Amino acid sequence: MIIMKSEATREEVSNVVREIKKYGLKADVSKGEYRTVIGLVGDESRVDFSRLATLPGVKEAMMVETPYKLISKEYSKRFEGQDEYRQIQVGNVCIGGPDLVFIAGPCSLESKPQIFKIAEAVKKAGAHILRGGIFKPRSSVHSFQGLGANGREGAEEALRWLYEAGKKFEMPVITEVRGETHIDLVAEYADIIQIGARNMYDQDLLTNVARKGKPILFKRHFGAGIDEFLSFAEYIAAEGNKDIILCERGILPIGKGKNYTRYTFDVTAVPVIQKETFLPILADPSHATGRRDLIFNMSCAAIAAGASGLMVETHYNPSEAIVDAQQTITPDELKEVIDACQKIHQVLAR
Ligand code: PEP
Ligand code: MN
Repeated sequence: MIIMKSEATREEVSNVVREIKKYGLKADVSKGEYRTVIGLVGDESRVDFSRLATLPGVKEAMMVETPYKLISKEYSKRFEGQDEYRQIQVGNVCIGGPDLVFIAGPCSLESKPQIFKIAEAVKKAGAHILRGGIFKPRSSVHSFQGLGANGREGAEEALRWLYEAGKKFEMPVITEVRGETHIDLVAEYADIIQIGARNMYDQDLLTNVARKGKPILFKRHFGAGIDEFLSFAEYIAAEGNKDIILCERGILPIGKGKNYTRYTFDVTAVPVIQKETFLPILADPSHATGRRDLIFNMSCAAIAAGASGLMVETHYNPSEAIVDAQQTITPDELKEVIDACQKIHQVLAR
């Protein structure tokens, strides 16, 4: 990490960037209100930091040991005048700002009437962003794979329905890319691109999605430690895209006895991650529990822990949902969740 003097000129910054590139590294230049900080991206083992420290305009050059420095509090702390948390604006919705954000919709898009009916209902319940899976990650090849499996035309038609439903009910939309071949198509229609838990470790997917320059909702793998989760988010940041919305969605349960939930909702991850990074973190109580009867309490717990909002699977008739029916709630239940969370948020804000 190179911290420039507050009076450093643009030429001095460019010169430092040039010197960094000579080592075969990339430079992440962040301009704060008073000073510029440059992060080195790549293998730093051959970098002579004492030499970089003597370049004109440089105040300090140092090695940062964490594997996720570009998204770390440590890095942002060096800018005077920079907000403690990043706020990500998507259309008229601000994620990580003073207001909670609720993402709702079906696990999976099934038809045009289905997504329009759900969009209208979740909007009325207080949701801000519409979700709907089109390329579904499924454990069995024999299960419904999402409308994305219907060739390029089928996938594009479904993406258009999602986009149109979002436009009609004034909500930005989010959907998942399951593989690199989906990126261009999804980026054309989605306001936020989701990278699912199973793909958290796919660094080429992360890099290529990041290059689209769109906000990314990045889910924690169910077997990943928090440091790993943040280290992989760094692959996105390394492409110059810091519009990363982290999402805790449950980790593998322990013990060989009966498990009562689909995953274990790691509520502690929320405040821990907020101490480590300036990125906003949401929670997904649907996948974390796998049980609709637990959504209300776990949503409240997530907001009490400080989450910036939730992603909740919602359907007008949950038992009819082809995917994840058992964890899907109704729009009326969503409204109860949102109302309770808003009250908790008000208490915390005070
Ligand atoms: C989803 O949100 O649709 C999903 C598949 O979630 P996860 O990647 O967390 O399993
Ligand atoms: Mn689901």
